[in-house]
Parts: sequence; structure tokens; C-alpha cells
Amino acid sequence: MAVDSLTAKVRNISTNISAHYVDNARKLPWRVPPTQSRRGKLPDPYHVWLSEIMLQQTTVGAVKGYFEKFIERWPSIHDLAAANESDVLAAWAGLGYYARARNLHKCALQISKNFRGIFPQKESELLQLPGVGAYTAAAIAAIAFGERAVVVDANIERLVARLFAIATPLPKGKSEIRNKMDLITPKESAGDFAQACMDIGASICTAKNPKCEICPVQTVCAANEFDKAEKFPVKPPKKQKPIRKARFFWIEEESKVLLSTRPDKGMLAGMRCLPDDDWSARQDGNAVAPITVNWKVFNNAIQHSFTHFSLEVDLAVYRGEKIVTNNDDNIWWPLEQIEQAGLPTLYAKAIRWMAKKKQEDDT
Ligand code: SF4
Repeated sequence: MAVDSLTAKVRNISTNISAHYVDNARKLPWRVPPTQSRRGKLPDPYHVWLSEIMLQQTTVGAVKGYFEKFIERWPSIHDLAAANESDVLAAWAGLGYYARARNLHKCALQISKNFRGIFPQKESELLQLPGVGAYTAAAIAAIAFGERAVVVDANIERLVARLFAIATPLPKGKSEIRNKMDLITPKESAGDFAQACMDIGASICTAKNPKCEICPVQTVCAANEFDKAEKFPVKPPKKQKPIRKARFFWIEEESKVLLSTRPDKGMLAGMRCLPDDDWSARQDGNAVAPITVNWKVFNNAIQHSFTHFSLEVDLAVYRGEKIVTNNDDNIWWPLEQIEQAGLPTLYAKAIRWMAKKKQEDDT
């Protein structure tokens, strides 16, 4: 593309996307609307940071309720820093990727203690914080502090790959996409611009069936010109995920179920769980039961998909006389309050499976 026409295209994209945001910004609890940000009001960095950590690998719809719950319970970074890690993990239950919750708490402690509760503003300083990677640092710097930072999340990646018809497959194509985002990011209001791109990526330039006919940059979009929107970004061939096996143990007496705690390291570290057989991301569980009783085993009762592998779980059930356990991590939990146990999604699936099984057995 000739230099002049590229410059015109870049200007056109920046202007149209920024203008579109004024009337179409999504209303989100961590945001300041464009009418206010244009007058210089920026959102609370604590809110921006918390929402961005929650949004890593998770949709806006799933995050909203968690965000509001966290802000109500821990209104400031000092409150979050003063919380027990186990309470933070329990409040995070269901959002997945629990290393984020542990880093969230570590980061809150650092900001509270070392920075007197005030977030650093520069991307390079933000990058030093636990759980804050390149994307999150850029997003916080731009959105909370008005720095000119180049923000690329999955929605923006898709939008930019299509605008410029970037043919290099991911992940190699990421640097080209970032360079193009750098080109179109304006000097002023980079935070609003990033959020405008996120919104278009989430609601117009969607992965399937993009709504090109209502898109504010339709006339300058290279993918749309050739009617090839869904071909971008170009993905590498899919790899088959490995399948791991695990066994969970349902031990119930007098309407209470025995819960345990995952090891301190590895998948779902430190989370409350059903007793299991030491499964991990690297190996199948050993199927060894914690006690010797007559188990009723339901093979492959639960399936769960993690990013790098799938897990098939057998559920071994024992409902009978009181079991004495000498493990400090074990706790008898009333079944009618199981929702408050803060179990990660994988184990919550087992609880739901068991509740359904009991219902079927009773009818
Ligand atoms: Fe995406 Fe279509 Fe807009 Fe291009 S015109 S950016 S493909 S929605």
C-alpha cells in the first residue's frame, strides 16, 4: 500500500473508531463513560486493574458479577490486601485460572505495603507487579492513567488482523498485529480508543458472523473488501488436547460431605475440593482411595476442559457411617450450604452431578 493511502487509512480508522465510541460505549461497572473521560475524568486504577485481571481468559458477562462482589466486599486495595488468601480464592471460585487470584492477592499486598496503595502509572513499572503481563500493563496505563500505550487483547487482535488482512498465522502474526495497533492508536485518549476497539471486537467484529454492515470502519477494512472477514486472524492448525484421568471421592454422612484442599502447588493449588487421587496436568491420578470402604464407582461421570488438556473424572461414592479422618485439610461441609464452599468449577460439576443422581434415584 502506498505511504499516502496507508496514512489516510490509519487516520480514517482512528477517527471513526473514536467517534463510534462516544455513542456506543458499553456501560461496564469499572468504566467511566466517554462523556466524562473526554473531560479528563479517569476511572479508579483499582477498578481497572481488578477488572483486567478478571477479564484475562474470561468474558465480560462472566466477570461483571464477580467484579461487583469483590468491590462490595473489598472496596479498596488495602481491604483486599488485608483479606485472607483463602477467602479471595473462595470468592474467585468459578472464574477459573486460579493462579490469577493468588497473584491478585500478592499484587494487592505489594501495592498496599510498598506503594502506600497507589498504583504505579508507567507500563514498565506496572509490568513488575505479580500477575501483570504486557497486555494488562498497557491496558491499566492507558485506561486508568491516560498514557499512550498499545493495548492488544483477543478482540483487538481479531479486529486489527481483519482491518489489515494480516496473513501471517498466529502466534507469529501477533507482532505484526501489535505494530498495526501501534499505528492506529492516537496520542490522546489511548485508553478510550483501546476500549472502543474492544467493544467493536466484542459486539460487531465477532469471531463468527461479523456485522460488517454496521461497522464504523467497513469502508477501510481489507478483509471486508474481499468478503473474507472470518478468515482472519489466520490460526495455526489445531492440536489434539491430551486426555487425563482422575477419580474424585464422594464421602457423605448425615447430610454432610467431606471436603479436602488441593496441594499448594500445581492445578487449582490451595483450593477447596473433593478428596481426589493426586491427578495433575502432567499425569493421571493414581485411583487410590483415601479410605477402604465399599465404593460405588461411576466411570467418566464428569468431563472438564482446561486450556492444555481435558480431564475425565470417575466419581467414587460412599454414603454410610461416620468416617474418622486424621487429615487437617479435611472438613465436613453441610450439603445444603455447599454453594458457599467456594469450590472451583471442576468440583462444582461433581457436586451437581451427584445432586442430579440422587434426584434420579429418588424418583
Ligand atoms: Fe470486522 Fe467487518 Fe468491521 Fe472489517 S468491516 S472490522 S471484518 S466487522
